[in-house]
Amino acid sequence: MPPGYFNDDDDRGWSDVDGTICLSHVADPSLRAAVVPASEYACSICGRTRQPEEPPFAVPLNDVLTSFMEAFWREYTRMDQAPYFNGSYVLTTDTAWAVSELASIAFESTHSDRLSDLFSAAIDDPEVGTLDAPVGTDEISFAWSRFEETVKHESRFVFAGSTGPGREVIEFLDRLGQLASDHSGLIKHMPTPSAFVRARTLPHDLDWYHDADPGRQLPADARALGPAPAPQASANRMSPAGIPMFYGAEDEETALTEVAAYTTDNHAVVGTFHPSRPLRMLSLHAKALLPSPFDETQLELRVLLMFLDEFQQVVSRPIRPDGRQHVEYVPTQIVAEFFRRAATPKVDGIVFPSSHTGRSNYVVFATADDIEDKSGEEVRQRAHPGMDLHGPETPKLLRLDPTSIRLRRLRHRIDTSDAGTFTGRTWLMNPGNDDW
Ligand SMILES: [Zn+2]
Repeated sequence: MPPGYFNDDDDRGWSDVDGTICLSHVADPSLRAAVVPASEYACSICGRTRQPEEPPFAVPLNDVLTSFMEAFWREYTRMDQAPYFNGSYVLTTDTAWAVSELASIAFESTHSDRLSDLFSAAIDDPEVGTLDAPVGTDEISFAWSRFEETVKHESRFVFAGSTGPGREVIEFLDRLGQLASDHSGLIKHMPTPSAFVRARTLPHDLDWYHDADPGRQLPADARALGPAPAPQASANRMSPAGIPMFYGAEDEETALTEVAAYTTDNHAVVGTFHPSRPLRMLSLHAKALLPSPFDETQLELRVLLMFLDEFQQVVSRPIRPDGRQHVEYVPTQIVAEFFRRAATPKVDGIVFPSSHTGRSNYVVFATADDIEDKSGEEVRQRAHPGMDLHGPETPKLLRLDPTSIRLRRLRHRIDTSDAGTFTGRTWLMNPGNDDW
């Protein structure tokens, strides 16, 4: 029996509620299936009463709460099971907020706030734990938070390790790899015309590049615009220092915003690469595929997809070049490395949304050796198909279209709206201040 599952009424963490509810207000099919058949003739939520000869249309509200709470204690822990640190529980969230999240899935939107208030009032704990919630089955219960902790501070050598925490990590990743099949909705096939826009910021003023020295030229080819050679590759979200990968974006604005966010450089060169063969990419848009939290038959899938969703949230966060990248990026680097090397069939890269534009960012498992320039001839052939040309025998994975190269100015803007206010004693941060 997983922790958090309570048979004993005194320990279950919530009190009974009175009243009845129309079955039609229960929007989630799995939750509804758990509380049928209708037995009641009135609804205390919308006030509906029985018409002459009408069959039962409602159920006791307490039956719904009972099934709701089974799912709730799979997603969250009791407050006293949360880690205790410096005199208070940490990694907790407001119970009312947690209930409203689940209620928004469970009920028709017109009644979900009201039901959320009723249910929150029935729960004993003002806050609930978010770490190690028992969601999942006996075989698989692993959350991003635990993974992060394990690989950052306990055992990051997951591919060599065969016992201890490393073993647990690799078993979990294996299940994740099995999930990412072509039928899972997680694999995105990108055809050869797909565009991977890459931006490289210029660390010097434009004057510097005008110098006659041939070493001072604006980037203008695949080598200069592509990933750095291995010895110079710095740590990034999905690639450790020394292991280059190709980062690009769906469009120029996304590519520029991603690089401009952490530099004071004033210019960037952008160029578009096209794959020479269709690519199989792991898409981290896992949230849309999440099964219902009330569907007990899909718990494993839910755990795996929740993990991928958290992975996505972490890799989409703005980069802070504050020197902590070497530890902060370890968890995402390990998952990316796993999908690069161990997933079958292999994937060519990962698609994740940009926190700046919401459009797609790409990481392609390609090094400086996997990219090349499209020759001028080939570009002309694309414009005039059928021309007899001698192309290269084996094109490299990503090819830069020289006609796409542009020089862009970056503007670093100052935002004078209040991100937070000082009350005279403490700082209050405005909602929506993502950097906090
Ligand atoms: Zn009703």
